[in-house]
Amino acid sequence: MENLWAVTAPSIAPFPRLENDITADVAIVGGGYTGLSAALHLAEAGKSVVLLEARTMGYGGSGRNVGLINAGLWTPPDEVEASLGKLAGEKLNGVLAGAPAYVMALIEKYEIDCELTKTGTLHCAHSEKGFADLQARFAQQKARKAPVTLLTRDETAERVGSTRFFGALHDARAGTLQPLAFARGLGHAARQAGAQLFEDSEVVQSDFDGSHWHLRTREGQVTAKHVIEATNAYECKPGTPRYTPVYYFQCATDPVPTALRKDILPGAEGCWDTAMVMSSFRWDKAGRMIIGGVGKLDGLGEGAHLKWAARKIAQIFPSLAGLPLTTGWHGRIAMTRDHMPKVVETGMHKMSIFGYSGRGIGPGTVFGKAASDWVLREDSSVFPVASMPSYREKHSKVMDVYYQAGAVAAHLSGARRS
Ligand SMILES: Cc1cc2nc3c(=O)[nH]c(=O)nc-3n(C[C@H](O)[C@H](O)[C@H](O)COP(=O)(O)OP(=O)(O)OC[C@H]3O[C@@H](n4cnc5c(N)ncnc54)[C@H](O)[C@@H]3O)c2cc1C
Repeated sequence: MENLWAVTAPSIAPFPRLENDITADVAIVGGGYTGLSAALHLAEAGKSVVLLEARTMGYGGSGRNVGLINAGLWTPPDEVEASLGKLAGEKLNGVLAGAPAYVMALIEKYEIDCELTKTGTLHCAHSEKGFADLQARFAQQKARKAPVTLLTRDETAERVGSTRFFGALHDARAGTLQPLAFARGLGHAARQAGAQLFEDSEVVQSDFDGSHWHLRTREGQVTAKHVIEATNAYECKPGTPRYTPVYYFQCATDPVPTALRKDILPGAEGCWDTAMVMSSFRWDKAGRMIIGGVGKLDGLGEGAHLKWAARKIAQIFPSLAGLPLTTGWHGRIAMTRDHMPKVVETGMHKMSIFGYSGRGIGPGTVFGKAASDWVLREDSSVFPVASMPSYREKHSKVMDVYYQAGAVAAHLSGARRS
């Protein structure tokens, strides 16, 4: 099955492969939101910048995600402050609260054609307990003056077009986009601003000569003083375990006739739920229903996950039952132990940024901007989290198996129940 985002994203002129030796102020590894945002901001500031992407722009999480431009992290803001400390937590919460507006402003400034909606997102309660969780999140967000609204069961039914939920939290700061189109749009804008971007150019070796880095690809080399590593969960050759990979898949119908979809999410909000093994659902611009859940569309789990997806659509929206799912894909999320993003100094003038733990449209874009500021000001305090000299994730292999087996089991039992 294909990735819907690859089918519907506007194409842009391809980027060449690196085939010679070049020198630049900054080298960036990875062509997702983090690397592309860094490249765009650095080029706009007049730096010479080279971005090396192993496959194609947006190949990683940036071309596979749900497209929810959410404010903050999955972790509620009080917990962020408890985890990082009051001051550091407030700093991260503050930056990420403004991230959707930053993303939307970039899309408008560079006229990126990526199906942007600005009608917010709905976090939907799958149970009474889920609604209690939303009430706590609502109180925390209200205390920070966020434009959030707690919807009753009836209000949610009207807004979603389904009676399955116990209430919902609407966040007016949020919206949706076509993920791969946004990545490509950032790439196009960075190229227009003067950045040199290369695809099919995996960095296979990096050496430091005491003042500069030499990043080698199969056919070329980039020499630069500063390096930004932005490979998140898609490192080609993972070294030290730095996160637990969590897989999330999505499937989509073909465009649904207007008559069938007029009462379902008429405001086009992107939605996800409060279940431990969460689900997401949203429309794309053409009116395809996209449903997502934890798991990987390959091997033993694929059949269980696809059947679950079809049944889930039928449960939430009975009028859409039986519509074939014509596209399907999955992606890897970099989940850290404390669910906080990491900025690690992996060498002199070399920063690695990863671990958004399921949020990355807002965070990746603003951390990429911060990486640009780090180079321009030679100051690592510009990052929304404190940088650290090293980071190792404990038990990531065990947790990987746990998440995957758990998702298959949940979807098998969910499928049997319905
Ligand atoms: C299925 C799924 C659903 C998600 N849903 C949402 C959502 O709704 N909202 C949200 O905000 N976030 C969501 N996320 C998270 C978000 O997509 C990521 O956090 C974000 O895309 C990370 O961006 P990035 O640029 O840091 O990394 P990536 O987009 O993963 O890019 C890393 C790139 O580095 C390249 N690379 C790796 N190694 C090398 C090398 N040696 N040389 C050159 N290039 C290399 C890879 O090929 C890859 O393209 C989701 C993620 C997934 C997987």
